[in-house]
Amino acid sequence: MESIFRLPSWLLSLSTTRRAFTKNPHHNTSKLPLCNLRHPFLKRPPLDFTVGKIPLLLQSTREASSLVSAGWFQGLTQKKMDLPDIVKAGDPVLHEPALDIASEEIGSEKIQKIIEDMIQVMRKAPGVGLAAPQIGIPLKIIVLEDTETYINYAPKEETNAQQREPFDLLVIINPKLTKKGNKSALFFEGCLSVDGFRALVERYLEVEVIGLGRDGCPIKVNAIGWKARILQHECDHLDGTIYVDKMVPRTFRTVENLDLPLPSGCPKLGVQ
Ligand SMILES: [Zn+2]
Repeated sequence: MESIFRLPSWLLSLSTTRRAFTKNPHHNTSKLPLCNLRHPFLKRPPLDFTVGKIPLLLQSTREASSLVSAGWFQGLTQKKMDLPDIVKAGDPVLHEPALDIASEEIGSEKIQKIIEDMIQVMRKAPGVGLAAPQIGIPLKIIVLEDTETYINYAPKEETNAQQREPFDLLVIINPKLTKKGNKSALFFEGCLSVDGFRALVERYLEVEVIGLGRDGCPIKVNAIGWKARILQHECDHLDGTIYVDKMVPRTFRTVENLDLPLPSGCPKLGVQ
């Protein structure tokens, strides 16, 4: 899931230009054996001067160093040819259900490499969650993390309403999600596979997810608020569902229009 940052319009145009330079390959890899699921190296412009969609040149040294510690630069220091691109909406692979991974496969070099790639891709984007189908791999793996640094870029009243708290990196294999309680929450949501857009999506306020960690051991995660939303968003990807499949359609808008009033008759944001 995408971090909710507001991108200035001048940066949006840069972002569009950058996309024009980055030719996405066809990622319909769902029928390929895993060993063929790597994406070819894609030529990018030499300088990526947005970090977390904040212009790097406008950041203080202290901010920049905290970004480094948050891992935001890891993608820049790693050879780009090692990292797969994010599959964008429009590719049918995003609507295919992912497959379970046999527990004896989890420790394999192949699966561990996929997990490592996913973590690096998520941090480089940057995002707060990523599902394996988003790098063209139809397996049930999700990664997620949210940091103080990311959260501090959003208005405090917004993150309070979203019940958004930082949490350490989570890797969950074969996750199974169940809702807890009957409350739901309605907030704007974005996705790394749907660049530049947001929409209101209703999610359970509180969930429980069981699955396996990257070491193959069972894990159970109880989550509320924004973390619960990220878990639902990423688990949806494993079912072949993108947020646009369950958004309130009339609220779909570009990031720069995020603060404009909702159309009349739309439900109100917040816990329902
Ligand atoms: Zn997504």
